[in-house]
Amino acid sequence: MGLVNLRKIRRAKQEIGGREVAVVISPRPEQTRLGTTVWQTFKSLLTGMKITISYLFRPSTVVTQQYPENRETLQMFDRYRAQLKLVYDEAGGRLCNCCQICENACPNQSIKIEWTKNPDTKKKELERWIWRMDSCTFCNACVQACPSNSITFGNEFESAVYDRRLLVYTLNDKAGPDAKVWSAIEDPAEREKLMRKMDRYSGPIPLSGTSLPGNPSGKEG
Ligand code: SF4
Ligand code: SF4
Repeated sequence: MGLVNLRKIRRAKQEIGGREVAVVISPRPEQTRLGTTVWQTFKSLLTGMKITISYLFRPSTVVTQQYPENRETLQMFDRYRAQLKLVYDEAGGRLCNCCQICENACPNQSIKIEWTKNPDTKKKELERWIWRMDSCTFCNACVQACPSNSITFGNEFESAVYDRRLLVYTLNDKAGPDAKVWSAIEDPAEREKLMRKMDRYSGPIPLSGTSLPGNPSGKEG
């Protein structure tokens, strides 16, 4: 049995073929006794297993999750980005005012804001807030770009589907004015009259970001 003492490895210059070249000189393996070799092997194994073994004595700090067995109790970290969501005020009004800054900030056209202008108030009203999870990279640029904190990422992570079309979300379930108009009306029944229920998209898979679904007019997005 022999071990190479790594501390004795050194650089040097040697003349090879009439030229001086840089070489690394490694010492010959030193002969060791069998007992020493077994101990060194065991010691390096223990060093490698140190962290694993330490978790036996502090199981509450283990970070590995037994998923899906712990599906009912699993808590994801607050910063985990899973589902993009619209933010609403206390009265239930949608903060998004359709400025489309997030749409322009998205590097891969994963957002499409469809809006109409109310002829009476002359204000923008949201039709569909479309998020394409199938192309989203969860970079968070849209959330950071939004000037009114109207979108956020939730951490509900179970998003797997068998059909890619189901990854194109309409985030708003109702079309209509934003919180500034909606929440200013006190009568809940009057508020609801301003809103229209939105259906979730289900149709052919869009081939590119230029042909987003959920566009009732059928025009290119
Ligand atoms: S997280 Fe990034 S890729 Fe996803 S929608 Fe927002 S800006 Fe686009
Ligand atoms: S989510 Fe924010 S940035 Fe995007 S359209 Fe609404 S208000 Fe503008």
